[in-house]
Amino acid sequence: MILAHNFRGLDDITQVHSFYLIYKRCHPTLPLYKFPILHILLSAVELKFSFKQKGMLPLLLLLLLSSFSSSLFPAAAAEPETLLRLVPPEALISSEFPGTSFGEPREAYCESWRLSVETNNAGNWRKIPSRCAELVEAYVRGSQYALDSKVVARHAHAYAKTVKLSGDGKDAWIFDVDETLVSNLQHYADHGFGSKVWNESEFGKWVSCGKSAALPWSLWLYRKLQGMGFQLILLTGRKETHRNSTEHNLLAVGYHSWKKLILRGNLDAGKRATAYKSEKRAELVGEGYIIHGSSGDQWSDLVGVPMARRSFKVPNPMYHIP
Ligand SMILES: [Mg+2]
Repeated sequence: MILAHNFRGLDDITQVHSFYLIYKRCHPTLPLYKFPILHILLSAVELKFSFKQKGMLPLLLLLLLSSFSSSLFPAAAAEPETLLRLVPPEALISSEFPGTSFGEPREAYCESWRLSVETNNAGNWRKIPSRCAELVEAYVRGSQYALDSKVVARHAHAYAKTVKLSGDGKDAWIFDVDETLVSNLQHYADHGFGSKVWNESEFGKWVSCGKSAALPWSLWLYRKLQGMGFQLILLTGRKETHRNSTEHNLLAVGYHSWKKLILRGNLDAGKRATAYKSEKRAELVGEGYIIHGSSGDQWSDLVGVPMARRSFKVPNPMYHIP
């Protein structure tokens, strides 16, 4: 960028710095001196000084240092984040689930606990029971999670085949994104697979890296529905500021040609997921869409008014979004 045209001082430094911040988030263990973009900047500044801007050396060095100081001292540069998820107040949630102290075998208890959260019997919860952490990890990494996801996708496909499409371009199917179309397992592996309270700031950094993986059976269903003529609408709790990284991520892992990608805008900040997603579904209905089906890993993706004609709950025992 800088080498391609005349050096513009603060504008170029600011732009390079923003690239540098994203790069640093996605490669957190890379030492500062190894960032290629920093080398480019330093080379460019050095080049320009050598020829015609020697008189500006003190000023530009000051700009350079101030630009990167927030990276060297990250606490001073913490970015404000608005709520993606409203976490229920502590008073509404027990710190541990009921029935954990009656001496059941751990594995049996955790299977029952998983059934309880998947069916929404557990209500609001903030993190998985500590005694189930290892089993949740084994589940989401193992064949049972894949099989459970496959069965959901097969049921959804079987239903979709029974739908009589109008063919007017308004036959919709809604997909959630996180833990529905894509997996953030790499991120949650670094955060205890749900045994730690969800951290919005950390998750936002992960999303901006665009490294989520496709969930194979969701991708299979997505392509099947697309081939059948459904309009695929992606409705996510991610913020509008993550549109670019989300689009690039989805395209990179095989999703394409969605009708709409709906993210939380400024007016949606602070709304509970159930309310936010219900409002968006109402807008779609207002535009004439018939929502034949909806797929999501959270009940808040699926419930509320209006609802899809059929809803399909994708498994996710790692976290709960009210
Ligand atoms: Mg989700």
